[in-house]
Amino acid sequence: MSERVCACEYCKCTVPETAVELNGKVYCCEACASAHPDRAPCQNSACNCHKHGWGGIKT
Ligand SMILES: [Zn+2]
Ligand SMILES: [Zn+2]
Ligand SMILES: [Zn+2]
Repeated sequence: MSERVCACEYCKCTVPETAVELNGKVYCCEACASAHPDRAPCQNSACNCHKHGWGGIKT
C-alpha cells in the first residue's frame, strides 16, 4: 500500500492509518477533513495548511 497524502489543499502531511476518510478522500486529521473551521490547526504543528485562508471546501 502506498503512502497517502492528506487531501487538504495545502497540507502535505502523510495520512496515518487512522485517516479520516470523507468522500473518497483521506485527511490527516479532523481539522483538515472539515476544512479548518475557525482556522483549526492541523495535527502536525509544523504544517501551515490551516493558515492559507481558505475558509472551507470550495465547490
Ligand atoms: Zn496539515
Ligand atoms: Zn492534513
Ligand atoms: Zn489541512
